[in-house]
Amino acid sequence: MQLHPVPGLPEIGPGDDLASLVAERVDLDSGILCLASTVVSKAEGRIAALDEFPAGPRAREIAARLEERTDEEKDPRFAQAVLEESTDLLMESPFLLTETRFGHICVNAGIDRSNTGGEDLLLLPKHPSESAARVSEALSVPVIVTDTCGRPFRHGQRGVAIGWAGTPASRDWRGESDRDGRELGVTVENVIDELAAAANLVAGEGDGGVPAVVVEDFEFGEMDGSDEHFRDVEDDYVRQALRGWSYE
Ligand code: GDP
Ligand code: MN
Ligand code: MN
Ligand code: MN
Repeated sequence: MQLHPVPGLPEIGPGDDLASLVAERVDLDSGILCLASTVVSKAEGRIAALDEFPAGPRAREIAARLEERTDEEKDPRFAQAVLEESTDLLMESPFLLTETRFGHICVNAGIDRSNTGGEDLLLLPKHPSESAARVSEALSVPVIVTDTCGRPFRHGQRGVAIGWAGTPASRDWRGESDRDGRELGVTVENVIDELAAAANLVAGEGDGGVPAVVVEDFEFGEMDGSDEHFRDVEDDYVRQALRGWSYE
């Protein structure tokens, strides 16, 4: 497998056609295109000013609690934006752990304050898999939309897939055997997250200007694929433990 950055992409703005901008720069007759959510959001006009989110009582309460707990200034308008972009709040302190409308669990509803193109806030794409599908259709290759995310239990962030099209999300190893002939019982490998992490490593996080990376020579193989990616709460024991209840 090889990863190639797409060179020379400009600053992306509302209405830009990402598929054409990529096609003008690389020959894409095969491979998988990974796009940083940042540029998908910019192209879809998901930029906003803090003033567009006048804080209600709940946002003010959340921001005040965060301020107290973290000793940092917190803008209640930002808390309001996070609330509006979320369908569930899993933690309110010392940071906002949210579920987005499309099922992704992340801090602050994935609202970015870096590489925003000068505006205050960059919201995640509304439906990243639909965004991926549009680009995938235009270019006839699979597309993965990535974001840089933290995760519990480990320091640091890495790329994850928040949308995908043209490839299954996972590869099902159940029923395959290990080297001792034992049948694998539970392993479903989340391929799109693995590819997103690799692409994100190439893209970087700063001013490098590489929001698009092509994965070449990756073979999904003959194994069954599945499109299960985000867990529902019924199926997510860590989330249930966090809430202190069990969903039976
Ligand atoms: P995120 O992981 O989706 O939040 O995106 P990042 O902010 O980490 O940016 C990923 C990569 O895309 C970095 O190399 C950025 O410099 C680059 N990038 C972000 N926005 C733009 C843009 O509008 N144009 C170009 N060419 N690169 C961008
Ligand atoms: Mn981001
Ligand atoms: Mn990033
Ligand atoms: Mn192993």
